[in-house]
Amino acid sequence: MKADQIIKNAKIFTSNQNNPQATALVVKDGKFVYVGNEAGLKDFEGEVTDLGGKFIMPGIIDSHVHVTIGVAFDHADLGVRFEPNGKQGAMDFMAAYIKEHPGQKCYRFLLERHFLNGEEITKEDLDAVCPDSELILLEGECHSNWVNSKVLKRMEITDDTPDPVPGLAYYVRKDGHVTGNSFETASWPILFDGVNDLTDEQIAASLQRWIDFSKNAGVSAVFDAAFPEHNPIHERMYEILCKLDKQGKLPIYIDGSYVLTRPSKMHEALEEVRRFSRKFNSEHLKVHTLKIFMDGTLKIETAAQVTPYVDTGVTGTTAFKPAQVAEILKSLNEAGLDLHVHTVGAAASRVVLDGVELAQKELGDKYHVKVTCAHLEVQADEDLSRFAKLGVFANYTPWWHNGGGPGILAPMLGEKRATTMYRCKTVWNMGALVAWSSDNVAYGDFTTWSPYLGMEIGMTRTISKKTNVPAYCISPELNPPAEERMNIEEMLLGYTINGAKQLGIEATKGSIEAGKDADFLVFDKDLLTAEHEGFSHNKPTDVYIAGKKVN
Ligand SMILES: [Zn+2]
Repeated sequence: MKADQIIKNAKIFTSNQNNPQATALVVKDGKFVYVGNEAGLKDFEGEVTDLGGKFIMPGIIDSHVHVTIGVAFDHADLGVRFEPNGKQGAMDFMAAYIKEHPGQKCYRFLLERHFLNGEEITKEDLDAVCPDSELILLEGECHSNWVNSKVLKRMEITDDTPDPVPGLAYYVRKDGHVTGNSFETASWPILFDGVNDLTDEQIAASLQRWIDFSKNAGVSAVFDAAFPEHNPIHERMYEILCKLDKQGKLPIYIDGSYVLTRPSKMHEALEEVRRFSRKFNSEHLKVHTLKIFMDGTLKIETAAQVTPYVDTGVTGTTAFKPAQVAEILKSLNEAGLDLHVHTVGAAASRVVLDGVELAQKELGDKYHVKVTCAHLEVQADEDLSRFAKLGVFANYTPWWHNGGGPGILAPMLGEKRATTMYRCKTVWNMGALVAWSSDNVAYGDFTTWSPYLGMEIGMTRTISKKTNVPAYCISPELNPPAEERMNIEEMLLGYTINGAKQLGIEATKGSIEAGKDADFLVFDKDLLTAEHEGFSHNKPTDVYIAGKKVN
């Protein structure tokens, strides 16, 4: 057979359990036609490349990212970042800034909530420092914000505006009046208030930046976890991606989704995800998944827990109950669609597992929805084995596994829970399918989108001086438990074949195997023996997607 590409003398990590290591491969018409040793090459004609022992692995699959939110962040003004000491310090800083920069239509600032030392900010406080212009103060993780009266008026947020999900996504009220502080999806329209004005050219330029990064990093497929509260602009961005795909400019495969954030939109979302699945079906962009935002984040205690946060005594609230999850699953089952859920706290993943159990009981053999729980920062002991038992995918975001620095979460979670987070190895060893992701929302310089950063921290649970991140991120103490550190083979499998299974593309991607797309990466360094500290600096020298060199 005449081949397009023949490689010999390589060290190939195939991610194929039946044939884990190989030294030679052959590509024809964008597919692998042979993977094995040099003896098998005699059946193929063509120029042979001797790689001199270089390392090869399959194209990387990042199974939870936010391509479309990244575009929005590319054009969002996050404002002036500052680190005050308490509320008065914050007020003084903003007042001084506004005085120095008079006449702006809107002032935007950003701070981490803990700098307020537990004090509250209200619209009256913000009106006092900024009566004539709009003022938006974002909380660091962008899961909540504070605004003055002018912004509330423009956004038509009044005392009568209902909370999207009481207890999870809501407007803070005092004596029945909104205070200007909002949480989770209630806060998102404020965060991205200019996004609908983006031009097609601006959107396409940002998407191109992401495509270029992915090509160079060797990411050949992703799951896009959508854009909460912004399905219309999300759809417009998918239309642009579709156009790029038809022009042959989208080599990365995007497994897209439609997002549901509140029970009142459940039936609409189940219709809309079906429409999305019919509408977006080009070679590199397909939709077959409903994404649910089940809870929030740890730092602002919107992540839903089984046992309360120790400092406030609250548990947080899940957006849906198990019976609703089961109802959603039955509808998705009928439509042949899948489910992907943001689950940070222990109660969030439990609700999903309970819902799956209910649906499986009712549907028996007819049940075939693929369900993924993403993030899993805190999990209840008794739920760890249920992922394997129920066939639910466990998707972790390993670059978070250093814990964000020592002592940050212990005051909220208590010492024991704060030192038993991210139990990916336990869940892996129990037989569940574990996949890795970066869960990035903002493109920035793409540092944290790097799968090699995820691999490093997944293996070390620390950020050392050698790690490829800005210096302020360094936290060299190991985030316990040490036994939850993964090995390199597990990191590679979770970023390739396991991700492909989660996305439902394992027949064509995820491993170096005859018959599959010829997506593969060549490295000068052997990743299997590379030092863990500083692993994040690795980068492929050559990236092939469907047999074509793209970097
Ligand atoms: Zn996400």
